[in-house]
Amino acid sequence: MTVLFWDIDGTLLSTGKAGVPAWEAAVKEVTGHDFALSSIRVPGLTDFQIAVRTFELLGVQADDETLRRMVRRYEEMLPSTLPLRQGRVLPHVREILEHLRTRRDIRSYLLTGNTRDGAKAKLTHYNLFDYFSDGAFAEDRGSRASIARRALELARTAGPVADNGVFVIGDTEHDIECAGAIGARTIAVATGGYTVDELRRHTPWMALSELPPPLEFTRLIDDACAPDLSGQPLPA
Ligand SMILES: [Mg+2]
Repeated sequence: MTVLFWDIDGTLLSTGKAGVPAWEAAVKEVTGHDFALSSIRVPGLTDFQIAVRTFELLGVQADDETLRRMVRRYEEMLPSTLPLRQGRVLPHVREILEHLRTRRDIRSYLLTGNTRDGAKAKLTHYNLFDYFSDGAFAEDRGSRASIARRALELARTAGPVADNGVFVIGDTEHDIECAGAIGARTIAVATGGYTVDELRRHTPWMALSELPPPLEFTRLIDDACAPDLSGQPLPA
């Protein structure tokens, strides 16, 4: 079985920065401070990592309980801010996900720094939620690599996973790094916060300006997973 782990922001969709007003309102409510989220380069960070960084910049001491409250308020406010900005599903994403429904040998999961409810809000707003049965999400201040390990465990509970058949699809160096932590190959796409050249510096398996059309996409995956027959005698 081949497994694809999908990042959300900058990979599946762009919210048009609709999370920003929700984040800033939640910071104000939880800490009493005004905060500009633009002071952090957020792409690829988990929601908890963004919260830690936010509190550091504000000079606010934050225990785990406060971090949780912050992230919780953000995800509660997110559904009402998503319609305020013009976002979009990124090129070929819906077509690829639709095509993958015909491929019983490939399973897709989410692997995201969003929380489960934050991910649900975004995917529901952009009508992508039904393409994913499950995934691994930010649950604490742990690294993205820890989310990747949970994602792989989850995939394995559903059946055997081919060693060379695990792919992370993401738009930042953090996606590439977390793929490395689970021995997966990264298909890096420059549709989010990073250019192709920036992504290449982190040596993903592949870096693309955007995802290709569905058949081209599955050909990439299929060719990568095909047994290496070079050096084998040709069939008679
Ligand atoms: Mg991303």
